[in-house]
Amino acid sequence: MIALRKAQTLIFNRLVPDFFWEVTSRKLAQRGLRGVYMILSFDCDTDEDADAALMLHRWLTERSIPAAYAVPGAQLERGAAIYRQIAEMGGIFLNHGALPHTLQQGSTYVSSTFYNEMTLDDVSADVRRGHEIVTRVIGKTPTGFRTPHFGYFQAPEQLRFLHDLLKSMGYRYSTSTMPRTALNHNPVWQNGALTELPLSGWYEQPLNLLDSFTLIESPTRRVVTDVYERRLINTVTTLRRKNLNAVLNYYVDPAHVHKTETFTRAIDVIRQHVTVWSYDDLLART
Ligand SMILES: [Zn+2]
Repeated sequence: MIALRKAQTLIFNRLVPDFFWEVTSRKLAQRGLRGVYMILSFDCDTDEDADAALMLHRWLTERSIPAAYAVPGAQLERGAAIYRQIAEMGGIFLNHGALPHTLQQGSTYVSSTFYNEMTLDDVSADVRRGHEIVTRVIGKTPTGFRTPHFGYFQAPEQLRFLHDLLKSMGYRYSTSTMPRTALNHNPVWQNGALTELPLSGWYEQPLNLLDSFTLIESPTRRVVTDVYERRLINTVTTLRRKNLNAVLNYYVDPAHVHKTETFTRAIDVIRQHVTVWSYDDLLART
């Protein structure tokens, strides 16, 4: 099943990137959304991400660019003072579960906490604990959620479980799905009272996530390469040139981007071509 999906992705990426962007553009127009919009979120899975997130948030605030933060409860508690500062400057905090998502091993990290490997009761408990931690540490009830390592929790029954749980907890949105969800459903997928906002790929490979993790130089030198900037700028300028509608929902790990200028350079170029929204801005307009 996974092999088949990988093969499909490979063929799709080779043949028809235009198809993806044209279909999703039409889906957005049907929902009354025209133009290209970008939403930025930051996954803060390691303790290193806290200081990096604060630096980035200051940089973004100077430019009036909104940003959301997905921080596992374990990291949120350890970096509470920093994350509270970010929240005071307007940063929005998603519930990203409670358990840590990475464990440090020497100079590198290994991933942990995969919802597909846990019982649904344990998943539910982690979502509820994450909710409690954000509420206590940040002082605001989260209304958005992102699944830890969300790429592993995409089956229809898994999403149904997650969405039902979030609805019962009063959430407005989840941003926990791979780019193909935009094609299968909608880039702004209204699932009853909950909106699911899939993450985005780049123009040539619309089904693959554009993230910082896959573009770091090496496991020990975790700094994003300039490929990131090229893909981001090319995506935006191509969509503009073709006059397509898009919601580009991108996340990066702060520690991967704050030591290089590829990310900030790209954002400075892009903000001349697109409107950067918060998740709430988008929900208010759809
Ligand atoms: Zn994470």
